[in-house]
Amino acid sequence: MNKVAKRAWAVCILAGILIGGMGFFVVEFTTRADQWVVTAGSPHVYNGENINTGAVTDRSGILLLNMHNTRTYSGAESIRKATIHWVGDREGYISAPAISKYARHIAGFDMANGLYAYGGSGGVAELTISARVQTVALEALGDYKGTVAVYNYKTGEILCAVTNPTYDPDNVPEIEGNPAYEGAYLNRFTQCTYAPGSIFKIVTLAAVLEEMPALQEKTFTCTGTRAYGPDTITCEGIHGTQSLKQAFCNSCNCAFAELSELLGGQTLKKYVEAFGLTEHISFDGIRCEKGSFQLAEDAVNVAWSAIGQYNDLVNPCSFLTFVGAVANGGKAAKPYIVARAGDSYEAETSYTAPMMDQEVAALVQEYMRNNVATKYGDSNFDGLNVCAKTGTAEFDGDQASNAMFAGFVADETYPLAFIVCVEGGGYGMYTCVPIASKVLAACKEVLQ
Ligand SMILES: [Zn+2]
Repeated sequence: MNKVAKRAWAVCILAGILIGGMGFFVVEFTTRADQWVVTAGSPHVYNGENINTGAVTDRSGILLLNMHNTRTYSGAESIRKATIHWVGDREGYISAPAISKYARHIAGFDMANGLYAYGGSGGVAELTISARVQTVALEALGDYKGTVAVYNYKTGEILCAVTNPTYDPDNVPEIEGNPAYEGAYLNRFTQCTYAPGSIFKIVTLAAVLEEMPALQEKTFTCTGTRAYGPDTITCEGIHGTQSLKQAFCNSCNCAFAELSELLGGQTLKKYVEAFGLTEHISFDGIRCEKGSFQLAEDAVNVAWSAIGQYNDLVNPCSFLTFVGAVANGGKAAKPYIVARAGDSYEAETSYTAPMMDQEVAALVQEYMRNNVATKYGDSNFDGLNVCAKTGTAEFDGDQASNAMFAGFVADETYPLAFIVCVEGGGYGMYTCVPIASKVLAACKEVLQ
């Protein structure tokens, strides 16, 4: 009797576990089936690494990739090359996290019908980029490695973000060991960091105007060098006596070295962090590389760090967002690339925390506007009210300087912030301004 009772108990316990387990399964299934079905590697949605249902288009409905069963890219080689870093390759060397993130919306799962797209054509993911602007930007970069990006600082839509080197997924070249394709699998806009050079003076300027507004009235004297014991900060020219606005326009290293002394490295670091430049910026399942700012121990390197040299690094996406904040009164729309996916996802604009006071943003804008009006030339920008700063990031040894350019259009109709990073491009003013000119003109056409 005792033995039988024990067995009955054991059976009851087992039955309890079974019923409990089934209950758990049913709850999980009803609440999370849509996630299960698109789990990485699920054969219903994926073919190896890549989702194999649905399609991806640009902002105008131009087909970038049809994923039904096999990957069919755009019929135009220029579009294939200009967009592969967003839609991914066939082999999985270039991942497309923004597409994977919305796989369940693209596949269109619901509890009644399962994957409605299974065996069908799937839903569509519409990206915010313009295939037209992408191709113009890639062509403008020419043989240079680098990235060019433009986004709407009011809505967050990325209109353009190209990366070079790139290649045609329908005609894959020999990439391994070929210097021309070094880093070809990287999306330089999200995954890389660059020594910023003088575009970083926008950061130092904003910190100075926020922390020590009286310095607007100060004059700075440049003799071409500024001594720090045995070390010197050198300038591109001898700028003489200048106002702060003129020193920014002259990109005077001596004046910015003096500002670093007045501000202090610790305070500058605090602002670099507040401007989001040392954080990973994330959107649409993409986690961007973060920049860095190292507090130097010696005054000469604190000065170099305020000039965008020393160990400064910026990620193009987070720097673009910072510039967007200057344009948008102190806080920017956060960038995104997926406008909608299937019938169930639609992007919404969200904003960064306020980075600076509205008055400071307006002043930085005024200073950046002065740069274009008096130095870079409004004639380059076909009626667009551009505010910007160029940069040249120098390296030790023989490595050619990186040319940089960052800014925005101060215009309600064309609220565009941009960044151009050209590796080995030399002077930002000569290399990047013509690139930005072509890309902004293409953006203007698209927004009209
Ligand atoms: Zn100078």
